[in-house]
Amino acid sequence: MSRVLVVGAGPVGLSAALALRAKNLKVTLLEADPEGRQRPGSRALFVHRETLELLDGMRPGLAAEITGYGQTWHTKRTLYRGREVYARTFPPPTGIPPFTSLRQVDTERFLLAACEDAGVEFVWGARIAGVRVNPDPPDHVALTDDDGRVWTGTHAVAADGARSTLRRELGIAMEGTHGDGFHVVVDVADIPGAELPLERVFHYEHPELGGRSLMRVPFTGGFQVDLQCRDDDRREEYGTEEAVRRWLPAAVGDGYDERILWVSTYRFLRKVAASYTDPDRRVLLVGEAAHLFPPFGARGMNSGIADAAAAAEAVATGTPDAIASFAELRRQAGLFNSAAAGTALDHLRPHRRIVRVKQRAAAALAPVVPRCGAWLENAPYGPRHGSAAAAGRTY
Ligand SMILES: Cc1cc2nc3c(=O)[nH]c(=O)nc-3n(C[C@H](O)[C@H](O)[C@H](O)COP(=O)(O)OP(=O)(O)OC[C@H]3O[C@@H](n4cnc5c(N)ncnc54)[C@H](O)[C@@H]3O)c2cc1C
Repeated sequence: MSRVLVVGAGPVGLSAALALRAKNLKVTLLEADPEGRQRPGSRALFVHRETLELLDGMRPGLAAEITGYGQTWHTKRTLYRGREVYARTFPPPTGIPPFTSLRQVDTERFLLAACEDAGVEFVWGARIAGVRVNPDPPDHVALTDDDGRVWTGTHAVAADGARSTLRRELGIAMEGTHGDGFHVVVDVADIPGAELPLERVFHYEHPELGGRSLMRVPFTGGFQVDLQCRDDDRREEYGTEEAVRRWLPAAVGDGYDERILWVSTYRFLRKVAASYTDPDRRVLLVGEAAHLFPPFGARGMNSGIADAAAAAEAVATGTPDAIASFAELRRQAGLFNSAAAGTALDHLRPHRRIVRVKQRAAAALAPVVPRCGAWLENAPYGPRHGSAAAAGRTY
């Protein structure tokens, strides 16, 4: 049986390997890091229903395993300058929930176990340095690592992340923009027995944080705090662990400054690969190898897993047309997500005065016009539907 190579054991590469095994294809997954590596931080927390459905299609029961561990909350609140403008508690869902929230390391743990169970062959410590397309059939792709070892396969799925070597070796450009400034992401452990309410809270212009916006999102065992810094804020003032200890009490109350697990600063890149495949239709780019979005709306990992599912479908079909169609549809989804994340970013980091004025007006009207509160609640995540839905999926 012919073999497919997957490069990168992040959430997207693991999903691609699982999806290929579900198509009964032999899969070798090549990962630069050593086996048992520890990746830091919560990173991509949300796993959306569409993603859970895809994962369950790859491995029946996987969605229940992930949602059984993750957190789904039913209350969402939004505050403007310290005053609540939106609060809604939804009835608990039946079936697959609309989302579940868990640290990316935990999602990867479930995916890795599922891959091992499904018979994916893993090669850890294999940093791919070169790609050659169209050597002798039936193996059309040859990958070489930096020790000179070579693996061949019918296709390669490049899930090697933002600095993708495969993308670079194929000469595929990333196109797009990067925004100003940064935000700070902090993981905080719960205080056992005194957990904060299980709800997602968004603050516009938090009065105790100099008017910066802040979001708090629970995950199993703790919560993530996300602070939007101003363009002229300095990392030392907000983005180091020492700095976080200073501002965190104003954001979540006392007692948490000793419970910080991880601090990271994150810049705003919106980039999409010029092509999701090579001219011979043998290498398929997925996940952050193909696109980079700001995290609002949780598009990065979710859309990466949708790429992985589509790539496996195309490889199983096996024709150049199927790969070309994958590349075109997923690139359209990438462009949609990039634009949607841009809309969210314009709302979250308004550079135009009119946006701030609209937000202030909506906050003033929210008590009497609930639609205004709902707009303030939803806008930070950008539109969810559009051409990507036409491409078959929301993401
Ligand atoms: C510091 C940080 C903070 C983040 N915070 C958030 C957040 O708050 N919210 C959010 O939604 N998203 C966040 N993200 C983004 C999120 O982590 C990504 O969307 C997600 O990891 C993308 O998955 P991926 O599988 O495409 O790539 P990755 O997770 O990057 O996986 C790529 C894999 O490929 C391997 N690899 C790389 N090069 C090679 C090579 N040459 N050969 C073999 N293997 C290779 C890497 O070791 C890695 O295992 C954050 C990312 C980082 C780095």
